[in-house]
Amino acid sequence: MDQHPRVRTVHDPELVDHLAFVWRDWEDAGLPAGYGRDRVVPYIFPTPGMLAGLPLRSPPAVHGRAGQFCYDTMTLVGPGSWAAIQGAADAALTAADTVASGEPLAYALCRPPGHHATRSAYGGSCYLNNAAIAAQGLRAAGARQIAIIDIDAHHGNGTQMIFYDRSDVWYGSLHVDPGAGWFPHYAGYEEECGRGDGEGFNRNLPLAPGTGDDGWIAALGALCREARALHPDVVVISLGLDAATGDPESPLRVTHAGYYVAGCLIGALGPAVLIQEGGYDLASLGGLAVAALAGAAEGAGLRASS
Ligand SMILES: [Zn+2]
Repeated sequence: MDQHPRVRTVHDPELVDHLAFVWRDWEDAGLPAGYGRDRVVPYIFPTPGMLAGLPLRSPPAVHGRAGQFCYDTMTLVGPGSWAAIQGAADAALTAADTVASGEPLAYALCRPPGHHATRSAYGGSCYLNNAAIAAQGLRAAGARQIAIIDIDAHHGNGTQMIFYDRSDVWYGSLHVDPGAGWFPHYAGYEEECGRGDGEGFNRNLPLAPGTGDDGWIAALGALCREARALHPDVVVISLGLDAATGDPESPLRVTHAGYYVAGCLIGALGPAVLIQEGGYDLASLGGLAVAALAGAAEGAGLRASS
């Protein structure tokens, strides 16, 4: 099955195949019916410390193989997962195609989100990296330079690592400091600046827990200035709404007004593809998205319809 050759330019084919077939294999192994395990959750992980230099094998047992591709225990796969995962990637590609064909802004309401998914592994409630897939799609459509700005409350370790060695896709992120105890814990530090050809094309601005509009918008302004200096053809925004005050998954304190201002800054950068990432306070998500998108339309010089 290869419905997404464009996805496979970003992700290892083995990861895509795993996501496409793991639920079928899990059911075939009798794990839901026989053992009450109604979601794919790995229980063994081939960490460098475990392998100690041995080559990585792909285990034949599906319950052993799950940890080859998933790096945590909170990113579940169930009966409808693959359809949703494909739908999110399709939405991101449609938004990228829309902007590539001349529209100034497009928003993809992706669920599940994507920015924690690396080239070969999923985790952090993310499976395929929708923003990276959009960025690669824009490159394939002729964009020379892409800037990705990630305003989700958490560092987009997947996006960072997918483009870490490249200069054609710059990645900048503001997020709660992983060193203060927040996901993804192992990445998102200021000194991670890129590698090889990508050196200087990765920028992390970790923020202290409790940071509100002033500090958050100042950091976003700094990222926008850096992005603008690259003269990107298109910007891709990882639009997380979980930096909002009251979100249960982050300690940042951004208001609706803050998200509107963020939208204005983003919209003023030029053509932009906005990709939905996190956001977990269901009662406020809609209003936050509207604030950000209205700001983006304003910043792009479009009249936002009410
Ligand atoms: Zn997040």
